[in-house]
Amino acid sequence: MKNNCVFCAIVAGEIPSFKIYEDEVVLAYLDINPVSKGHTLVIPKAHTVGLLDTPDETLAAVVSRVKKVAAHLKAALPCEGFNIAQNNGEVAGQTVHHVHFHIVPRYEGDDPLVFKGEKGDMAALAALAERLRMAD
Ligand code: 5GP
Ligand code: ZN
Repeated sequence: MKNNCVFCAIVAGEIPSFKIYEDEVVLAYLDINPVSKGHTLVIPKAHTVGLLDTPDETLAAVVSRVKKVAAHLKAALPCEGFNIAQNNGEVAGQTVHHVHFHIVPRYEGDDPLVFKGEKGDMAALAALAERLRMAD
């Protein structure tokens, strides 16, 4: 299997997929363990691991296709809204090491995907922002 990667195998047609959309740059297909009805993965055909090693031009193309596919799902399912998720690293929940964007359709009555935050310490946030501020 190329790159020892299940998504490369899907691109190569070695593993079947429930394809939704394809063009020269990307492939979109249903997730086999759907979080909700219509849960779709959008991937670049070229193998990279995550956001940081994917060329900007590829990312730009993939994100535009994420938008296109999400608009289609919203109208065709239909669904009321959707979450986009993109996991980088096993600590962040990445299980397949070929960059991918999840489109998770959301329906009335669903529990929304939430980050469970706690009220921040304003002084600590100010100090952290000072340390992390980027030049451009
Ligand atoms: P991650 O946790 O890496 O962000 O998401 C990987 C996703 O790929 C999971 O939601 C998982 O269900 C999905 N997945 C893993 N193997 C396959 C496969 O062979 N076919 C499809 N369609 N989805 C897969
Ligand atoms: Zn791959």
